[in-house]
Amino acid sequence: ISYNGQWGYHPLLIALTTLHELQPQRRRVVVPAFTCPLVAIAVHQAGLELQLCDLKPGHYDMDPAALRAACDERTLAIIPTHLAGRVADVDDAMAVARDVGAYVIEDAAQALGARDNGISVGLRGDIGFFSLAAGKGLSIYEGGLLLARDPALREQLSHTAARIVPNSFGWECK
Ligand SMILES: *Cc1c(COP(=O)(O)O)cnc(C)c1O
Repeated sequence: ISYNGQWGYHPLLIALTTLHELQPQRRRVVVPAFTCPLVAIAVHQAGLELQLCDLKPGHYDMDPAALRAACDERTLAIIPTHLAGRVADVDDAMAVARDVGAYVIEDAAQALGARDNGISVGLRGDIGFFSLAAGKGLSIYEGGLLLARDPALREQLSHTAARIVPNSFGWECK
């Protein structure tokens, strides 16, 4: 997916918009208390509420007890984040999400190439994304990759993208 460089038209906004359409009564998005500000902007732009989760000592990942305390029937999505390529515990986030009926969006924006037991990060959550924007490890200046294992969800994501991502010939050329 590429987009026109306006802040906010990133894979995460497409993911959040799609999930909120599937679960309109849920509005909370649980993120690590230390993460990229673009994550907070995307949650705000999707019209959703940010819920911060305290970190594990010595890691950027969410603390398992704090994560459980932060999630309930209002939770739309949990965003385990592989910040700076340090691999977060996506299986734990999936277990908590399944308990409360929420989704997991794996933020691999800073982790293209990172592997967990030999398998790329970004593939364990319901949705995963990588960023190819300026400043990331591998960049095509702007854009990103949005992944979903479930074909129906993938179809919905591409419909949302077609609807909300503006088309700009100039940015495509750039
Ligand atoms: C850059 C970044 C994002 C946003 O991704 P873009 O595709 O650049 O909009 C989200 N999360 C983290 C951790 C990031 O570093």
